[in-house]
Amino acid sequence: MQVSVDRDRCCSSGMCVTNAPEVFDQDGRDSLVVLRRTVLLPEQFDDVVLAAELCPGRAITVTGDEPERIGA
Ligand code: SF4
Repeated sequence: MQVSVDRDRCCSSGMCVTNAPEVFDQDGRDSLVVLRRTVLLPEQFDDVVLAAELCPGRAITVTGDEPERIGA
């Protein structure tokens, strides 16, 4: 599972940082999104997918398989 961002589409809303602060940050100069990591841990998947769904600029892309759910 990997995440990428298109900074040209980012409008600096900060929604991604609110939902997944361990994965996303904002540049201190222009507030555009900055990735803390590109390869996701299984426990980060749901928060990052939610961040992608809520991103007003549609700037976040998640690729790869969803992690297996133990006990699901
Ligand atoms: S939620 Fe989207 S538009 Fe807002 S800061 Fe993050 S990447 Fe940029």
